[in-house]
Amino acid sequence: MEYLPIFLNIRDQRCLVVGGGEIASRKAAMLMRAGARVHVVAPHIDIPLLEKLQHADGSFRQGNYSAADLDGMALVIAATDDEAVNRAVYDDARVRQLPVNVVDAPALCSFVFPSIVDRSPLVIAVSSAGKSPVLARLLRARLETTIPATYGRLADICGEFRPLAKQTFPDTNARRAFWERELQGQFAELVYSGRENEARAHLQNAFAASGPQQAGEVYLVGAGPGDPDLLTFRALRLMQQADVVVHDRLVSTPILDLCRRDAEFIYVGKARAAHALPQDDINALLVTLAKQGKRVCRLKGGDPFIFGRGGEEIEELAAAGIPFQVVPGITSANGCSAYAGIPLTHRDYAQSVRFVTGHLKDGSPELPWSELIHEHQTLVLYMGLVGLERICDQLVAHGMSADMPVALVSQGTTPQQKVVTGTLADIASKVADSGIRAPTLTIVGRVVELREKLNWFAGADAPA
Ligand code: SAH
Repeated sequence: MEYLPIFLNIRDQRCLVVGGGEIASRKAAMLMRAGARVHVVAPHIDIPLLEKLQHADGSFRQGNYSAADLDGMALVIAATDDEAVNRAVYDDARVRQLPVNVVDAPALCSFVFPSIVDRSPLVIAVSSAGKSPVLARLLRARLETTIPATYGRLADICGEFRPLAKQTFPDTNARRAFWERELQGQFAELVYSGRENEARAHLQNAFAASGPQQAGEVYLVGAGPGDPDLLTFRALRLMQQADVVVHDRLVSTPILDLCRRDAEFIYVGKARAAHALPQDDINALLVTLAKQGKRVCRLKGGDPFIFGRGGEEIEELAAAGIPFQVVPGITSANGCSAYAGIPLTHRDYAQSVRFVTGHLKDGSPELPWSELIHEHQTLVLYMGLVGLERICDQLVAHGMSADMPVALVSQGTTPQQKVVTGTLADIASKVADSGIRAPTLTIVGRVVELREKLNWFAGADAPA
């Protein structure tokens, strides 16, 4: 960082502007907006500037600049077209350790003026450290268009309620949670639509209703198959406001990195047959945390309602009367098929697609085999790596052609994604030889051939 961004309080302070022309006038106006008492020194002054000074408790001395003009000043700006004067102002100010800015001369500035978006009391300052003021201005223009004009009002009204907020929520976490909820909820909407009194009444009620022992909430969030880019906006927002993140093995590290930094992280595992925490305990944990008033993000791989046991978790929450919301995620069938170049349906090859679990209670797959045998249906098997050979055998035994194409996608959508393709007859041995790692998803059907047709090969899994 080349400059330290700070916001300076110059209210009622005396500030010197050397120069009386148009640029001096703009700078003086900026200082006055921040409440400064501006003193201008110049041989000549533009009339509008003189009028502004008179209105804002400012002053003017006609004459040439001298070092004595710096006496009692908090800050100085030189805006003359005389280089020698500008230089002298800079040198004198530095000796006195006064903040100084010489317009358009970065080398003669101890501070620079940023481009600003003013939604007072909310102010955004953008600086390129003098490298590209145009870029800073363009960025400012973009911010101007995306930040509602009423943001300032929002900040003002929050300011009015600060003492009450402190009193209602002595705990900073609880206070932050309250504001985060309100600033993204009805309170903000009321202010945006100009209904400020209703907004105030709403806040009053919200404070009255929320004791410090407020009940928590659970967000059941689908984190997608691995690539953080596949998160939804809603997932990201909730991940960033949760106090606790309860996650399992399928949630990738880059995704966890996007959660609120200071959240508490609880790993509840679920490696095959080595559950870090039994499902009942997970359900109970969510209830306990929420009852402590925490906002809990239950982060699950893929989609919570597809082989995610999300249904069981919310059943328990509903029974305990805990508010929750469910955020869908991209299920691994969708993620893997897209990233492996295998459309799950296709007019010519498959008119339906079926998601099946290959992991069964006793460890052996017991599936309605005959229902699965269909020339024009794609099968997607979740959790099928261990039982793969048996699954393939059973499909053939029940009438599926042994040359039916199969693709196995490992760690889909992550940089470690690998794809092995084959047929029902040979996929199991190919996979055994490949040293592939869980999680894997198996896609069975003619659509797998499209991968080759689409010439969809990437890096490691390109054919030899
Ligand atoms: N709710 C999850 C599925 C959980 S069951 C979802 O919607 O995707 C766990 C199984 O999902 C794994 O055994 C594996 O079959 C599959 N899976 C999850 N993530 C995967 C990934 N990145 N690549 C391949 N398979 C994945």
